[in-house]
Amino acid sequence: MAKILLVVLGLLLAYWILKSYRKRVDRREPPPPAAGAEDMVCCAQCGVHLPRSESITARGKFYCSAEHQRLGSPTD
Ligand SMILES: [Zn+2]
Repeated sequence: MAKILLVVLGLLLAYWILKSYRKRVDRREPPPPAAGAEDMVCCAQCGVHLPRSESITARGKFYCSAEHQRLGSPTD
């Protein structure tokens, strides 16, 4: 009878160790925020994302190229 109790205790211990180990593994560090990363903007015409410095701004909207700027803001 004592043997069974020992086995149960052993299983409980193994379970507890496994649980605490998995908890430690799961707690991964969140990815650090990209330091100095440039603002990404979305082309109003095709929706492509590009750095703000590479985009063309027109009427408060961003475009990936002069072509899309022309298409996105028709002259009327
Ligand atoms: Zn575009």
